[in-house]
Amino acid sequence: MKMDEECRQLFADVEAYLDGELDDHACRRLEQHAAACATCAREVEHLRRTIGMCRKAGQAQLPDDVRARARAAVRRLLA
Ligand SMILES: [Zn+2]
Repeated sequence: MKMDEECRQLFADVEAYLDGELDDHACRRLEQHAAACATCAREVEHLRRTIGMCRKAGQAQLPDDVRARARAAVRRLLA
């Protein structure tokens, strides 16, 4: 899978989200990019399903194993 610099930056932001740091603005940027980038759209959709990424409200802590899996997936994308 080919990712350009913009894609990589976005997924670096996703990694920050896994530590609870991704704010609304970053979420919106990510979703806007995903709307125009098929590669990221697929990955974002996957993350949305597995970790509820950018879902509002609560900000419930992710179970450690879920977070670890999501982090591994993002690391693979950025590798
Ligand atoms: Zn992209």
